[in-house]
Amino acid sequence: MTTKEGTGLIFEKSVKGRKAFSLPAPVIKGKKPADYIPAGLLRSSLEFPEISELDIVRHYTGLASKNFSVDGNFYPLGSCTMKYNPKINEQICSYGGFRDVHPLFPREKVQGYMSLLKKMEGLLSAITGMDGFCLHPAAGAHGELLGLMLIRAFYDKRGGRRRKIIVPDSSHGTNPSSAAMAGYDIVSIKSDRDGRVDTGELSKVLDDEVAALMMTNPNTLGLFEDKILEIAEMVHKKGALLYYDGANLNPLLGLCRPGDMGFDVVHLNLHKTFSTPHGGGGPGSGPVGVKEKLKPFLPVPVIREQGGILDFDFNCPDSIGMIKAFWGNTGVILKAFAYIMALGDDGLKKTGEISVLNANYLRKKLGQFYDIPFNRTCMHEFVISVKELASKGIHAIDIAKALIDTGIHPPTVYFPLIVEEAIMVEPTETESKTTIDSFADNMAGIYKKAETDPELLKNAPVNASVKRLDELKAAKFPDVKWDFKKRNSQ
Ligand SMILES: *Cc1c(COP(=O)(O)O)cnc(C)c1O
Repeated sequence: MTTKEGTGLIFEKSVKGRKAFSLPAPVIKGKKPADYIPAGLLRSSLEFPEISELDIVRHYTGLASKNFSVDGNFYPLGSCTMKYNPKINEQICSYGGFRDVHPLFPREKVQGYMSLLKKMEGLLSAITGMDGFCLHPAAGAHGELLGLMLIRAFYDKRGGRRRKIIVPDSSHGTNPSSAAMAGYDIVSIKSDRDGRVDTGELSKVLDDEVAALMMTNPNTLGLFEDKILEIAEMVHKKGALLYYDGANLNPLLGLCRPGDMGFDVVHLNLHKTFSTPHGGGGPGSGPVGVKEKLKPFLPVPVIREQGGILDFDFNCPDSIGMIKAFWGNTGVILKAFAYIMALGDDGLKKTGEISVLNANYLRKKLGQFYDIPFNRTCMHEFVISVKELASKGIHAIDIAKALIDTGIHPPTVYFPLIVEEAIMVEPTETESKTTIDSFADNMAGIYKKAETDPELLKNAPVNASVKRLDELKAAKFPDVKWDFKKRNSQ
């Protein structure tokens, strides 16, 4: 059978008797496996592909070349901040003093790593205007859960349980689900005509049962919540707390801070804002920052100087306990630390400014063709609606699939939920004008195709290794198991 490299399964390339390399027969002190392994545990055959070493290398190299990544192509996936991940971060992370460390090493042997974690807590506090940070959560959603557990512990300690969390209808799906996991009832509020939190709606639901309002600022439409100070006052007056979903912190870097806006708890996504690689389920990091009054509840262990060295302190009576084994995804934290140090104050500020400039430039260009429902100066991202193309049978998914044929990763689609046929675009600060212009040209071309040749879009992608999938079926009935016996009998 001939299959092109990188296509088909490695099992399909199997040829009976073919080997990658030869090992000596497994004889230990003159005995064969059957002499020392009980018969019931011995396998007579292994269902592995039989393949040469070179074919293995070609197979996986071929597959790797099919990976879509920021290093290969433009990736304007809204809300995900797919910025370039500087390679120096990887290099620093690979230094033996970091890479080869085990979390159970004696403390005095890992003082460098520990002081770096401590410094990172300080840097994130300074960037966000908070009083303390916990670096343990492994993702943004994990940080949300921790943040809500802290809020719960805060009210439990005061002896007045509050059972509701308010979330705007533009919020990321993880917000209500984290709140539900933390044991809260969810109260959703509608956005106003500007796409922002409606203070009238807020005041209707803000009562003594509310523990917190969760907000994303800029929100998921890419709009800055310009009434944030008024909202913070309303929330605090009712004795409730304000939670900041920091997934969209990028445009505010070095310009303004959630702590100064009145937020009591924040989570950050180091893998978005601070350039650590993500996508494909790679490790993330969702540190949580708090104001002074919530600090006693932070998870253990807390890094503290004890007996002249930095140590992990487990003795925190009001702590909610541990939320993750060991000390967080420290490799991710380290890369983000390297990123912050490399940029410095001025660099961080520029990051925010350019991400806003790029998004607004692109918004203006795409606005010539596409409908942008909340079309005003945005922060780092904006949302298109292709509702008007529905009469031609074209939907957001068709535009997304057509973009794949141009070598561009589709933007986020069908989110936020308050925009029909949404396409959410986030170019990030690391893309050049050339790339952004060429994306805009491609989007214009696709728009014209929707008018002249909608069938073409409905069949896209045509140049990708995988054509249009039945996404529902792929999600509900994934066929991922290789039936070796069935295959051999064919
Ligand atoms: C990505 C994102 C989250 C969740 O973060 P994860 O790291 O993916 O768990 C929450 N809110 C918003 C607005 C996001 O974009």
